[in-house]
Amino acid sequence: MPLDIITIPCLQDNYAFLAHDPVSGETALVDIPEAAPILAALTQRNWKLTHVLITHHHDDHVQGLGAVLAAYPDAKVIGAAADSHRLPDLNIEVAEGDTVRIGADTGYVIDVSGHTVGHIAFHFPQSAAVFTADSLMALGCGRLFEGTGPQMWASLSKLAALPAETIVYSGHEYTAANAAFALTIEPDNPALISRSEAITAARAAQTPTVPSALALELATNPFLRAAVPSVQAHLGMQGADPAAVFTEIRARKDRF
Ligand code: ZN
Ligand code: FE
Repeated sequence: MPLDIITIPCLQDNYAFLAHDPVSGETALVDIPEAAPILAALTQRNWKLTHVLITHHHDDHVQGLGAVLAAYPDAKVIGAAADSHRLPDLNIEVAEGDTVRIGADTGYVIDVSGHTVGHIAFHFPQSAAVFTADSLMALGCGRLFEGTGPQMWASLSKLAALPAETIVYSGHEYTAANAAFALTIEPDNPALISRSEAITAARAAQTPTVPSALALELATNPFLRAAVPSVQAHLGMQGADPAAVFTEIRARKDRF
């Protein structure tokens, strides 16, 4: 049975997620931007938190952990072994290929370094879900604070290779700004134009644009499209290494 996943807006534009197995009752939290809305969501559903999955070390993804653990002291905290020196205390340290069981579902750890080195994603194939935080984002990707362009391209390529029906649970509501940028790279992409219109409508209605479908990201997200000939042509980089094209697109976004 798939996990029951809910999206929790936190702070100004962050998201946390709860993934609940209705059979065992096990419930995982992905990232902890802020405790209050997470604790309220758990209480409202009468869910008991059993696991906390941390994607990366930035404050806006970990800073609520202390207050959440005060309420659920038995929850197991899981994060990247490579980053344990700068993450909160972990009960379980993981690396790419390791698994995390939530009830009957199994999550696979994917190293998605680039935004930070040591950033991980969690893929739950039985639930068709991947938690990507600040690696692959809705119509965007995280800024390269620590990693290189080729490293982020390699990370995004792993996510792009997941089943197209996978739903992408990313860390921020940046999608409207991402759409404005994406249209500068592919002004004539019909899927992007219609997605951009849908984003404008969603934000006007104060509806989250996260999560998003991987198939739609593949069709519209410029950071997944560095190997597409029309994108390369638009940048004057026909036949270039997609990692170099990605790096150019990322640099343009930084200046946008
Ligand atoms: Zn971050
Ligand atoms: Fe973030």
